[in-house]
Amino acid sequence: MSRKIFAALFGLCLAGLCAAPRNLEIYWIDAEGGAATLIVAPSGQSMLVDTANRAPDDRDAKRIFAACQKAGLQKIDILLTTHFHSDHIGSLPALAKLIPIGEYMDHGESVEMARPQVAAAYKAYVEQSEGKRKILKPGDQIPLKGVDIRVIMSAGQAITKPLPGAGAPNAACADFQAHGVEPDPDNDQSVGFVLQYGKFRFIDMGDLTWNYEQKLVCPSNLIGKIDLYQTTHHGLDRSNSPQFVWAIQPRVAVMNDGPRKGGPASVFEILRKSPGLEDIWQGHLALGTPKEVNTDEKMIANLGPSAQCEGNLIEASVDAKGKYTVTNLRNGFSKTYESR
Ligand SMILES: [Zn+2]
Ligand SMILES: [Zn+2]
Repeated sequence: MSRKIFAALFGLCLAGLCAAPRNLEIYWIDAEGGAATLIVAPSGQSMLVDTANRAPDDRDAKRIFAACQKAGLQKIDILLTTHFHSDHIGSLPALAKLIPIGEYMDHGESVEMARPQVAAAYKAYVEQSEGKRKILKPGDQIPLKGVDIRVIMSAGQAITKPLPGAGAPNAACADFQAHGVEPDPDNDQSVGFVLQYGKFRFIDMGDLTWNYEQKLVCPSNLIGKIDLYQTTHHGLDRSNSPQFVWAIQPRVAVMNDGPRKGGPASVFEILRKSPGLEDIWQGHLALGTPKEVNTDEKMIANLGPSAQCEGNLIEASVDAKGKYTVTNLRNGFSKTYESR
């Protein structure tokens, strides 16, 4: 090694950049009410959860690709599609042209094949993922190196045994009020998972609806407590029952809502009543909900209607000791939390 290179490396080490362990990074890509969550493990491996909407200008594919570039990714190792609605698989054909995708994981065949649009999107997915597809069952582990990801729900089936440390009875179940039948049944097929990194626990349930949430938390809580909760179903009141939210007791919630999708007052109320909840972050200001009911503006990544939206990200960076910092990339505002 030349003296110059050695000196440069030594300088980097002094600056604390030498072999510093990488953090787990989670990016919420704003897709105007679509879902796309990018997870980059400390190992450098990546998993994208859902590919948001199809748009004539490939808006969401470009936004996801920009987040991949920001994270320094050459490829997406795993694409997890929670279910086959257009706001979760829409940009896949365009995205697959921008960046290679390793493996595809999902719940199995769509249950809405009688709808021509769903059937066409599903068929395109099957072709795209040929030879690289894995159908997930509850209890499966998703092999993203450096973190532990456990599937807790898939194709309408929940895990039957509690996750380690979970299993306490849930007293709130006595007050559960069932909703009517879900009009878009593929929501209930959503893959849901818990990601654990050290003490830190993150949950993403796709669009699983109110009645199906019960399978995981009633009569006993099979999940345990969660640090960071991606509000289910874009923060809609078709999901996010008090029995579910108050069982997992998140410290931080991130709502991947859109300007006109998700974030009704009732969901904010359930979140704010949840024991131990400290903050709610939002991908979008919910324009149909009073401003004072939305979270503090500095924790909202996008404020305007879709036509003017810049698609700012929310990012969470988690260290090996379980300390995590959430940042609004619109204004740089951030806050740090401790895992439980
Ligand atoms: Zn959705
Ligand atoms: Zn859906």
